[in-house]
Parts: sequence; C-alpha cells; structure tokens
Amino acid sequence: MHKRQMTVYTTIEALTKHLAELRRQHKSIGFVPTMGALHDGHISLVNRSIPENDFTLVSIFVNPTQFNDPADLEKYPRTPEEDLKKLRENGVDMVFMPEVGEIYPETDRRQFDLEGLDQVMEGATRKGHFIGVVRVVSRLFHICEPDRAYFGQKDFQQLVIIRHMVAMLDMPVEIIACPIIREADGLAMSSRNIRLGPAERKEAPFIYRILQEARLKKDKMSPQQIKDWVRQSFKKQKIMELVYFEIVEDKGLKSVESWEEDLNIVACLAVKLGGVRLIDNMIFD
Ligand code: AMP
Repeated sequence: MHKRQMTVYTTIEALTKHLAELRRQHKSIGFVPTMGALHDGHISLVNRSIPENDFTLVSIFVNPTQFNDPADLEKYPRTPEEDLKKLRENGVDMVFMPEVGEIYPETDRRQFDLEGLDQVMEGATRKGHFIGVVRVVSRLFHICEPDRAYFGQKDFQQLVIIRHMVAMLDMPVEIIACPIIREADGLAMSSRNIRLGPAERKEAPFIYRILQEARLKKDKMSPQQIKDWVRQSFKKQKIMELVYFEIVEDKGLKSVESWEEDLNIVACLAVKLGGVRLIDNMIFD
C-alpha cells in the first residue's frame, strides 16, 4: 500500500492530471462527493472507500444548483479547515475543493429524464433539487472518473436517482450505498444539525423513535394505516412539523399499498424543526 499524504486540489486541471497518472498505473479510485461540514456520516463513507480502492478522493462543494431556496444556500454551514483536518486524520489521499466557477463556467442547463423519481417526496417540495444534484454529480463523475462512488442511505431518494443517472448515462462507476450513521440518541447525523437550537435538538430524536415504532407496527398494520398513525403522531408535536411521510419501494419510489415480499420497502420522511429541514428514513423489510 502507498504511504498516505493528502493533496488538496482547487482546479480541474491539476486534479485530472494527477488522476490520469494514477490511472496509467492502473490504480483504482474511490470517490466520496460531499458538501462539507463533515461529520461521522461522511467519514463512514471514507472509511468504506479506503480499503476498497487504491486511492480515495473526497470532494467538498456546496452545489448552488441543488438549492431551490437562496436563504438555505446562504445558511449552509461551511467549515473547510475542520473538514480538511478530519479528512487528513482519516487517511484520505485527495480532496477536490473547487470554486463555483470551476464547476460551472457557464450556466448548466442540461435536463435529465428522471422518470418521475424527482417528483415525489423531496422533489415535490424542493422543485429542481434533484436536477441540480444530477448536474453536479454527473460533472464530478466526468471529471474524476471514479471506479466506485460512495453515497449515504441517509439521502435515500438521492441514492436511487444517482443509480438511475448512472444507468441512463451508461457511466462505468459502481455506486456503493452506506448505512445511516446516527447520534447516540438516534438523530441521523447531518450537516444541518448544528443549526438546531437546544430545544429543537432535544426534540429531534423523536424522528428516529417514530420510524422505529412505525416499523414495529408493520406486522399488524397496512402501509396506509402506518402512514395515518405517523401523521397523527406528528400533529401532537409542538415544534416539529411533518413535511411528508411515505412508504415506498426502492426502484421507482412508488407508494406501496401492501407488504409485498419481493419489494425492498423504505419509509421516508422530512420534517421542519425550527427553521431547519431534516430528512430521515428506515428500511422496512
Ligand atoms: P452531503 O454533504 O450532505 O451532501 O452528504 C454527502 C454524502 O454523505 C451523501 O452521500 C450523504 O448521503 C452522506 N451522508 C450524510 N449524512 C450521513 C449519515 N448520517 N450517514 C451516512 N451517510 C451520510
């Protein structure tokens, strides 16, 4: 194994030059795209990539095209110094930290047929979000040409859409899904969690508890009954508002009517807590 020393790139030119050299040596590249403000969820993806690839590349890029709300983009946490320290300590080889103009020298107007995957759940309430995700991830894949790319199950709908994109564009990259990393009290780790006030942070584990309870009800209740129960439970919440709760299969993201055995079923939700939007999900089968 090579001795690890981390290099930070801000330009496509410098990064691709290095990557071309590695490819000439038949080295495999594992890629972890992120928007920074890194936590243990991101690090779990890095930890999965390192033993599976010769070199691990992490990108840190807060992608403007996936934010439909300019205020949300403005408030998105940015902690570059801490991020680089964490990545160095965890044995990452390369970090790509481009400016917006490097990724988008011109406005990206490409459209993609996501076959409705981008119209439900997150897509229904965040118009254009997933087209923005596909624009940036497709660009990053073209630049980095990784052998494997690592995504968290935390952003389940994103993962399904990335798999669809890779198949649609016939990209030679293997998509690896990694489990959700949670705080000790069950709250799914997220860069947005640091924006929660103390009272909100205290309430936040309710999200995980309700998902667990919902899963336990699967033996006795239909998907619709569980959806009704979860929606009712959130009505009693004082500071947390449910944006959606859906029970879907993992291919077309269609709502399921019954517990069919040949489907992988996932319960997904988004909430608003204070001014912060949080998402979570749980595999039900
Ligand atoms: P982000 O920086 O939020 O765009 O996330 C970058 C990657 O980290 C995505 O593939 C996320 O799904 C993944 N990720 C974020 N939070 C978690 C978590 N709590 N557990 C596992 N993966 C996560």
